[in-house]
Amino acid sequence: MKLVFATQNRNKIKEVKLLLPSEINIISLAELHCHEDIPETADTLDGNAQLKAEFVWNKYALGSFADDTGLLIDALNGAPGVYSARYAGLQATADDNIDKVLHKMKNKSNRAARFITSIALNLDGSTHFFKGIIEGQISKERMGKKGFGYDPIFIPKGYQKSFAQMTPEEKNSISHRGRALEYLNTYLRKTL
Ligand code: IMP
Repeated sequence: MKLVFATQNRNKIKEVKLLLPSEINIISLAELHCHEDIPETADTLDGNAQLKAEFVWNKYALGSFADDTGLLIDALNGAPGVYSARYAGLQATADDNIDKVLHKMKNKSNRAARFITSIALNLDGSTHFFKGIIEGQISKERMGKKGFGYDPIFIPKGYQKSFAQMTPEEKNSISHRGRALEYLNTYLRKTL
């Protein structure tokens, strides 16, 4: 079956293609010649994921799913959370966002944090949600160069290394998005 993954993020498309079974033909927005950034104007992860999946349904009448991810840091009262992509400003790069987190966490001893991914699936106009969570710690400095986003400063619980020091397979096997995709996968196998 064909399913659109409503994201412009190539890293995510690569991750998702590794995780979903090959019978599901994942189509990117780029393959639909859609290059616009879908507005993420909701104030929850679920809301933003739903907006992106609905956008594809409304524009192309194709089944689709979308994810929205946030890094929630306890010592920062859950920030950056739903604002993770824009934490250091609208044009912020991943490096800028990491710098801001490291600065805000400079004197914090409680370094607990979690990544949460919400996936919204829209096959027929209605929405189903799937959630994945990984607990961990914010490191004191960048560790590793792999991955993307906040990966260099997130050490998953039970590990001594950051996501950016893991192979994609190792990260996917424990990550927030990996877990949410497992739930999506189980649902798709049951439903289709
Ligand atoms: P979005 O869900 O793509 O909007 O991501 C929100 C923010 O979280 C962006 O800054 C991403 O770079 C970051 N992010 C999303 N997924 C991951 C991940 O797996 N590792 C690290 N950062 C991520």
